[in-house]
Amino acid sequence: MTKELIDFDDDLNEKDLEQNGIENDLIEQAVSKILSAIGENPEREGLRLTPKRVARMYSELFGGYRVDADAMINDALFNISYDEMVLVRDIEFYSMCEHHILPFMGRAHVAYIPDGKVLGLSKIPRIVDMYARRLQVQERMTRQIADFLRDLLKPQGVAVVVEAVHLCSRMRGVKKHDARMTTSAMHGAFRANMATRQEFLDNISRGAAPLQI
Ligand SMILES: [Zn+2]
Repeated sequence: MTKELIDFDDDLNEKDLEQNGIENDLIEQAVSKILSAIGENPEREGLRLTPKRVARMYSELFGGYRVDADAMINDALFNISYDEMVLVRDIEFYSMCEHHILPFMGRAHVAYIPDGKVLGLSKIPRIVDMYARRLQVQERMTRQIADFLRDLLKPQGVAVVVEAVHLCSRMRGVKKHDARMTTSAMHGAFRANMATRQEFLDNISRGAAPLQI
């Protein structure tokens, strides 16, 4: 992870993006070549600005590479003697599969049992975003979120479950029944203690709306 700071809430101009590692010119050239290669005319009205739009969009969709995690966590770590499960469920996310550069999207459920330290709740969706806004495979993203919280909070346990739909499966019509995927990563108490793990799984399935995309 590079250390330049990009805050998702900031308005970024093109110069900032170039300084932060997105090479807009190269992306524009490449997109233009793809348009020609599929038999399109990159100069026609509707496509003229497409390479520029894609480059700008990529800087947002792939902004996770350039998040400064320390700055993002900032002062949201608190020492507290609370040792019940903290659970944030149904965190909506959008990512891009690294095999096809097509979206996969869904929900993440994140839980931990503190051991003296808690994190401001609003930071957990931002941690999910930091890892989602990259080229990803769902299994790795799930583990990265869990590992990040384990290393940051040194909690008694961490659990992450991610449910997602992959457009590379959906759009290409292959294995449609496999298009929805669930992955999980567990550390500490969630791995060692079946009752703890079950409490978490019961919590995230209670009242859950089916994933519809
Ligand atoms: Zn894919």
